[in-house]
Amino acid sequence: MSIFTKIINGEIPSYKIAENDHFFAFLDINPNAKGHTLVVPKKEENKLFDLSKEEYLSLMDFSYKVAKAIEKAIPCKRVGMSVIGLEVPHVHVHLIPLQGMEDIQFQKKVSLSKEELITIAKKISDCFE
Ligand code: 5GP
Repeated sequence: MSIFTKIINGEIPSYKIAENDHFFAFLDINPNAKGHTLVVPKKEENKLFDLSKEEYLSLMDFSYKVAKAIEKAIPCKRVGMSVIGLEVPHVHVHLIPLQGMEDIQFQKKVSLSKEELITIAKKISDCFE
């Protein structure tokens, strides 16, 4: 079972943004930037292109809605999207509020308190339609 499945099942706590029957969105615990969010299919699959085309398009549809909420909640130039998966072998879309190129390079990390993470998650979640 992946660490993200444990988060989805509530066995590990997370700063939840939104969920539906098939997807779960929550804040990345080691964010590149304030508001860095992960969108994960509840069905545990390793690689993005292991998903069926239908599952892939549904993931993009849900990610679109989460990105719209991030854009409303977090001041940024734009929301960047990346799929890597070299650390956690359970498909996840990174949605990252960008101020510059360094925010999408996975080198610079920001340190946020628990209170800040709670506030950010609520702000984004409140903008989710
Ligand atoms: P990737 O697999 O795409 O290279 O990176 C995995 C991402 O998941 C990283 O950005 C990392 O900070 C995040 N991550 C790893 N473990 C946890 C966790 O337990 N909780 C949360 N919220 N994020 C995690």
